[in-house]
Amino acid sequence: MARLVMKFGGTSVGSIERIRNVALKVKREVDAGHEVAVVVSAMSGETNRLVDLVSSISSMHDAREYDVVVSTGEQVTVGLLSIALQELGISARSWLGWQVPVRTNAIHGAARIEDIPCDEIIRRFAEGQVAVCAGFQGIGSDNRITTLGRGGSDTSAVALAAALKADQCDIYTDVDGVYTADPRIATKAAKLDKITYEEMLELASLGAKVLQTRSVEMAMKYRVKLQVLSSFEDLPGTFVVDEDDIVEHQVVSGVTYTRDEAKVTLQQVADKPGIAATVFGALADAHVNVDMIVQNVSENGHATDLTFTIGHKELPQAMKVLEKLRDKLDCKAIVPDPDVVKVSIVGMGMRSHAGVAQKMFSALAEKGINIQVISTSEIKVSVLLAEEYTELAVRTLHTAFGLDAA
Ligand code: ADP
Ligand code: ASP
Ligand code: MG
Repeated sequence: MARLVMKFGGTSVGSIERIRNVALKVKREVDAGHEVAVVVSAMSGETNRLVDLVSSISSMHDAREYDVVVSTGEQVTVGLLSIALQELGISARSWLGWQVPVRTNAIHGAARIEDIPCDEIIRRFAEGQVAVCAGFQGIGSDNRITTLGRGGSDTSAVALAAALKADQCDIYTDVDGVYTADPRIATKAAKLDKITYEEMLELASLGAKVLQTRSVEMAMKYRVKLQVLSSFEDLPGTFVVDEDDIVEHQVVSGVTYTRDEAKVTLQQVADKPGIAATVFGALADAHVNVDMIVQNVSENGHATDLTFTIGHKELPQAMKVLEKLRDKLDCKAIVPDPDVVKVSIVGMGMRSHAGVAQKMFSALAEKGINIQVISTSEIKVSVLLAEEYTELAVRTLHTAFGLDAA
């Protein structure tokens, strides 16, 4: 007998027929004698609809009320799945965030889970009851409903698995595992049997939305055995594992991209001490996170270009901050560019192989793709490109690093 957490994403519970299918999958595990907690997302498209409703009333809405509205999608699916399970003769009960309780901080819209006391759920396991828990939501330290950020049900599931000391956390979704690139744009992407926590963390934070970044961080910290698999086909999925569980590391395990960044260039800004501190200090004060930065060497010793990237959504706020600094910076122009994409290659093997970045740059050059900004870390290289090259760049790198499926 094992204790399992099964998480089903939006597409997997997107219709009544699909919810019935999920109930059958859960029943199979219950019939095998396992203790099961299920975590569900809202029906596909529902959270987007709720976010749009909020935004249509006010773009500067109160985050506490945003959470009250957008958390409702999951209330519907926990109820429906519990009923579907009961129809199959399974004892099941729904749990909203406040009922479990999933205790979080009070950062509304992007709350972090602090604690999940689950004694009552465990007590009910002993009575043969299945717990059907709402993903994405919790109860804040201010005693109000919180949400965990988009894609947050993955984190709900992993956190619950850690709190329950579950033997495994299965993330059922609309793909049958983690691929070498997003299968929606790279038709030659190959499914990975295993991927390390470190690589999955980089892939997720660099755009692969198959798992929310925080869920991978949490799985790594609490050593949760995590599998990503299909809710539509009975196939083994991808296990996220320790480094030692992989005998031979690929130089590059995956290619990913994100359109969530925007670029800003300060043209001909004064080349003197304190300018970078002024710019990035003011942006930090306005809670604008800066990702990539490049400063050119000035030709005349007086002025240079300073380019950096920030979150796409934060561009208006950043421009406001920079316009206020215009006199101090004494620059020729402040040029925003929202039409960029960050494409990254990720792989543990990069640590022991030279020439990976060079190979990436050559492959892109051969296709005439210009690189605007570069950033690297131990196991990844990222480049900023014009958005129109997204598909071409991902496919080119996928082929160049030998990842194409046979
Ligand atoms: P869910 O609603 O089940 O949480 P998501 O839409 O959040 O599902 O995540 C699954 C999607 O992630 C897939 O449909 C796929 O397009 C996308 N994805 C991006 N990168 C990858 C990758 N490397 N491997 C698998 N899926 C990926
Ligand atoms: N329903 C939420 C969202 O769409 C959470 C999730 O699906 O993981 O972001
Ligand atoms: Mg998701």
